[in-house]
Amino acid sequence: MKFIFACVIVAIGVPCHAQNAACHHPDALGTSRILKINTKDTVGIGHGFPALGLAHREIILTFDDGPMPDTTPQILDTLAKDCIQATFFMIGKRADAHPELVKRVKDAGHSIGSHSYTHRELNKLPYEDAAQDIEHGFDAVEKAEFGSVENRPRLVRFPGFKSTPELVDFVHSHDGTVVNTNMSPADWRGQPAPATFDRLKALLDRQDRGIILLHDSQKNTVVLLPMIIAELKARHMRIVHLEVE
Ligand SMILES: [Zn+2]
Repeated sequence: MKFIFACVIVAIGVPCHAQNAACHHPDALGTSRILKINTKDTVGIGHGFPALGLAHREIILTFDDGPMPDTTPQILDTLAKDCIQATFFMIGKRADAHPELVKRVKDAGHSIGSHSYTHRELNKLPYEDAAQDIEHGFDAVEKAEFGSVENRPRLVRFPGFKSTPELVDFVHSHDGTVVNTNMSPADWRGQPAPATFDRLKALLDRQDRGIILLHDSQKNTVVLLPMIIAELKARHMRIVHLEVE
């Protein structure tokens, strides 16, 4: 009923927010659709890779560098209020330290990807060391998420987007797809939320679709996220959820 109601609202020209039929929050932004990634066929998505197939006003929300006990739960609460499904690229050693937070992200229906084990600049390491760090990251994050270590399709983001062609090949040969961004408001700088919000609005002025990069490890992002969600609603943008096939 909610889905039909939302579409009737759209028909009379009022923004449609709650497009997810399972969302019980009437003014929620919601999650409009799932985009399944076949990791065997897809080396990467986002900047530097072939177009992702997002439509006008479609946004994928991604969060890096968690999980962190002081901030990740607040980010999850904010996303839940708006029935938004996002993707979290976790640092392996933080997943090792906070497996209960990894489970909480998973149980909330978000996608979880890997962001290396140590968050070093992998392009500056010898290949073998970098590959080991990536693989250790897979194991730590997925052990916390699934309770076991095995080969499975996975989404991967390089720390600082610092990769090499050989490391991208390594990820893809391990059933991984690299996920880049085309909208980074640089919340990692730790500035007050309004400064970061201004940068994001400028990015949204220039691009009508894309992958937004935020950091659930940042205290200012806890304040920033509700501002972003309100802005996405005002611009009639829709959330797309990434999942592996
Ligand atoms: Zn990072």
